[in-house]
Amino acid sequence: MEAYLAGLNDAQRAPVLQKDGPMIVIAGAGSGKTRVLTFRIAYLMNQGVDPFNILALTFTNKAAREMKHRIAQIVGSSEAKNLWMGTFHSVFAKILRFEADKLGYPSNFTIYDTQDSHSVIRAIIKDMRLDKDVYKYKQVYNRISSYKNSLITVKAYFQNGELQEADAMSKKPRLGEIYKEYVDRCFKAGAMDFDDLLLKTNELLNRFPDVLHKYQSRFKYILVDEYQDTNHSQYLIVRALSDKFQNICVVGDDAQSIYAFRGANINNILNFQKDYDDVQMYRLEQNYRSTKNIVSAANSIIDKNKTKLDKVVWTANDDGPKIVVNRLLTDGEEGRYVASSIFENKMQHQLNNGDFAILYRTNAQSRAMEDALRKKDIPYRIYGGLSFYQRKEIKDVLSYLRLILNPKDEEALKRVINYPSRGIGMTTMDRLAIAAKEHNRSIFEVIENMQNLNLNINRGTQTKLENFVNMIKSFAIMNETSDAFQVAETVTKKTGLVQELKKDGTPEGIARIENIEELLNGIRDFVEGQRELADATGSLSEFLEDVALATDLDNDTGDEDRVALMTIHLAKGLEFPYVYIVGMEEDLFPSAMSMNTRSELEEERRLFYVALTRAEKQAYLTYTLSRYRWGKLVDAEPSRFIEEIDDQYLELMVPQDDYKYKPLINTDIFGDDVDKSKLRQTKPKGTPPPAHKPSEEQLRKLRKLKPASQQPEQVRNTLELSEGNEVEHMRFGKGRVLKIEGAGQDKKAEIDFEQGGIKKLLLRFAKLKVL
Ligand code: ATP
Ligand code: MG
Repeated sequence: MEAYLAGLNDAQRAPVLQKDGPMIVIAGAGSGKTRVLTFRIAYLMNQGVDPFNILALTFTNKAAREMKHRIAQIVGSSEAKNLWMGTFHSVFAKILRFEADKLGYPSNFTIYDTQDSHSVIRAIIKDMRLDKDVYKYKQVYNRISSYKNSLITVKAYFQNGELQEADAMSKKPRLGEIYKEYVDRCFKAGAMDFDDLLLKTNELLNRFPDVLHKYQSRFKYILVDEYQDTNHSQYLIVRALSDKFQNICVVGDDAQSIYAFRGANINNILNFQKDYDDVQMYRLEQNYRSTKNIVSAANSIIDKNKTKLDKVVWTANDDGPKIVVNRLLTDGEEGRYVASSIFENKMQHQLNNGDFAILYRTNAQSRAMEDALRKKDIPYRIYGGLSFYQRKEIKDVLSYLRLILNPKDEEALKRVINYPSRGIGMTTMDRLAIAAKEHNRSIFEVIENMQNLNLNINRGTQTKLENFVNMIKSFAIMNETSDAFQVAETVTKKTGLVQELKKDGTPEGIARIENIEELLNGIRDFVEGQRELADATGSLSEFLEDVALATDLDNDTGDEDRVALMTIHLAKGLEFPYVYIVGMEEDLFPSAMSMNTRSELEEERRLFYVALTRAEKQAYLTYTLSRYRWGKLVDAEPSRFIEEIDDQYLELMVPQDDYKYKPLINTDIFGDDVDKSKLRQTKPKGTPPPAHKPSEEQLRKLRKLKPASQQPEQVRNTLELSEGNEVEHMRFGKGRVLKIEGAGQDKKAEIDFEQGGIKKLLLRFAKLKVL
């Protein structure tokens, strides 16, 4: 038996060793599902399966990267690089680019983000002269998104009387028309939205048997993590691709299904056994992540759900401290408590910021936490929310870049054709849009052919339009021989974007210029990183693909030591030694929107289960007595979920002063709305909680934190590197040279990096420090 298989228990080893056939692993949180997938892939490769024949679908790109890194450590080669691994969206975007022409799309199709989609829908609602208070664009978008994820195409929609009736009943009889127009406009713009990446993959596999055959034959082994949160569209793709070999392994936990609101279908997991012949079902029961207190508390919660598969989760880990519950007056106080508690834990247990996570139900709750952390000088990072790439000035630059690759991209064109102002007005744009529709051409093409069309646009404006088109074309020519950074830098100068912001002169304008500079820095970094890789060039199209599919979790390079702040939805699959779950209040968590039906409430409860099971060593729950909601200060009640936890796992506290907490004595402080029998006095602990011996992981981090000056720094010529040398890279961290290939200018090194996994770098460009 290979040595690494000893890192699994018997129950985990079974699905790893079953090489062929369909199998499902259903197990609770922290029981090693993701670990099983990782080891299974390593095992397959050791058995001689070509990594090109393995497809692994994960929930975030970050998860994929971590998995690849781990696999590379086990199989000890750069072969891991050849695995098809990533999110559904990133893997199938790649395949769609290869096959785009079959569906009538350009291979450099644009990926519209949610903002782009919203903007298209707003324009349609306006053009159709519909009441925007009835046809709320976000609702319309969500509805269209759910149709797409259920594979209800426009045609299918119009054949389905029930759907039309339902939309009519909700006072939106023209939803189908909007759907049709939306699809048309995206297609004409050579753009796919996020849902299209799945819908079009399905279309591709359904309509073209040879394409289906090609990918069925390629993906001999398919693995899916977090299977409980796949939607119908994703389900069908997996089903189609695995049909030939039926070597499919899915892992999931019905108790962690939290994306029903986005169309995830728990039945995918429940029906798996019906979909394939001879399905092997595996269960894992031992949790390796959390203390006994946390595991037991989580079990006691999920037990309240009626719809669930019966599962056992236990742990051999220590009891650990009880779950601390604290009540604060306001969200400001809540923030201060969390920040002080983090500070205190850090001091007491010698921890890093990265050992802590603050989880909340809604993004808006982050502000109070941020304020408090800032005051205490605790570095933090927010995941989710408006990302850098969604800021106006950044989207402006990106729109120019998108247009260069895909001149049909209508959202990009509309955004920048008159920004900075070139005297191209709304009337002109309307005329162009009408002509584009009439001639079935993109606006860009209409401008190119203006001479031959009778457009009723005056000569002066025509010249302005021509200048714009020529400018974009000149960028496109430059792009053929330049990298993403060179193109982007030229664009910011030549378009007048930066000058425009300079003219503005306000602090906001200056901040925007700084953001654009930051973007350029980011592009330069990206290009340099890509150029170091033997199989990439740092082109504009590589950069835009990276941006389009990056989620906020993915930008985490993990090289900065920060407290993590994120919504519970984003935290799925992750783990942290210390977890604070804040805002444990009725109407907030469970959310006011989710209390109408049992199934909604049960989804909220699963969300709480996910939150609690992220914690390894200790969990904290906080709630406030009053909170600003919709601009009003309202009384808040403690969440029913606190009461649902078996109270033997809880420790109820009230703050005394900044760093010391004393156990609750006066139960009246909770008011009349709480079952007081639950709030019995918890005995004060005579001694502080036992100091935890730092785990290997923490030790590793602590070692890494040694100030740089203590390490010998000797910069040598990287071209002289040889096998076994220790090096450090700005982005990938420390690493060891595995292999040197080529000579002179083409000399490459294969390096195993602590953070970046195995990379093949061109030494001519590689920014390495030899240690
Ligand atoms: P989730 O449901 O939250 O996604 P999971 O079932 O995927 O959890 P993993 O993330 O794979 O669980 O494992 C949880 C933690 O336990 C990880 O840190 C993992 O490395 C560790 N672990 C799992 N199995 C073992 C084992 N046999 N020996 C040592 N550590 C293990
Ligand atoms: Mg997992």
